[in-house]
Amino acid sequence: MNKRIPPILSTLRRLQKQQARLLKRVLVTDPLLCGSLSLVMRTCGKPNCHCATTPSHEAWVLATSRQGRSRCQVVRQNDVDEVQQRVAIYKDYRQTLRALEAVATEQKRLLRGLMEERNLHYE
Ligand SMILES: [Zn+2]
Repeated sequence: MNKRIPPILSTLRRLQKQQARLLKRVLVTDPLLCGSLSLVMRTCGKPNCHCATTPSHEAWVLATSRQGRSRCQVVRQNDVDEVQQRVAIYKDYRQTLRALEAVATEQKRLLRGLMEERNLHYE
């Protein structure tokens, strides 16, 4: 058992450092936008515009969902850069959360293994 503890300890320390790095990435206060962006082709509504036959004006659409309700909004041209940036922050946040979950799962697995090794199995 004692031979196994040092490698487990160093792995746990490595995971802890990894966790701290990941936490640093999400524990900031910049606003983010929970949603996904897509570029669509639309019509503008002017009957004489070339888009009347083939939708050909590009527009960014933001899909979000709140309390189970989904919503699609056309992003105003002036907001496109900012919305893209906020959505990117959200994607990074989600990815970081998944990584944190993986670290926690690994920690738990190691600690459960250690508990099993230390168990006396009283007969
Ligand atoms: Zn048009």
